[in-house]
Amino acid sequence: MQGRAKTTPAVLILLGPPGAGKGTQARMLEERYGLIQLSTGDLLRAAVAAGTPAGKAAKAVMEAGQLVSDDIVLAVLKERMAAPDVKAGVILDGFPRTDGQADALDGLLAASGQQVTAAISLEVDDEAMVARVSGRNTCTGCGEGYHDEFKRPATAGVCDKCGGTEFKRRADDNAETARERLKAYHDQTAPLIAHYAKAGVLETIDAMGSIDEIASGLDQIVARVSAP
Ligand code: ADP
Ligand code: ZN
Repeated sequence: MQGRAKTTPAVLILLGPPGAGKGTQARMLEERYGLIQLSTGDLLRAAVAAGTPAGKAAKAVMEAGQLVSDDIVLAVLKERMAAPDVKAGVILDGFPRTDGQADALDGLLAASGQQVTAAISLEVDDEAMVARVSGRNTCTGCGEGYHDEFKRPATAGVCDKCGGTEFKRRADDNAETARERLKAYHDQTAPLIAHYAKAGVLETIDAMGSIDEIASGLDQIVARVSAP
């Protein structure tokens, strides 16, 4: 069946290159709509930190800015999708990233009578993405995101939200790896835009604006695709 399924729970996909703001927007949608953010990047980083077999296999690939194999990604995603909280509906952030993953997702959803509600492509400029990704860092205490150039705390070294003084940086957030990740996006993930256009569920949004502008654009899309 093609076209939009007006069923609950919603399955929203955020498509876009690294730095487009998928994670930021997914967290905001989670708060506003009670949906669950599923980030395969976060799931893989947790696996790396925990030293699981999947994490051990993924670590070097992630540090090189390349895509982790579909088998590993699908294993961590399926494990997470089995938890009861995802019944509220999900925002997939960073998944699917290959044709194989998109087909696997379609199959997984079909097995429970679901389908993708909307795949939203965040459209941005490549060079701006390298700059955005290169300076990112996060407060270790509360997870608030900062940027060396674009979003510094009011007092240098002190988190605006929680007063914490420790910040962490992802191993893959440097200019060289960012370029590798952009290349992986164009080669392997951008073709999914056509996959979802064909299924009749593609939405696009200009993601070069401010965080709030993008959020309000997404609100309009979510309101429209989830209307009965
Ligand atoms: P970004 O979108 O900024 O690149 P993510 O946290 O989504 O950040 O991903 C970080 C890394 O994790 C990717 O470069 C890749 O190595 C791996 N990864 C995350 N999701 C997937 C996926 N769906 N398929 C393959 N690799 C993935
Ligand atoms: Zn903080």
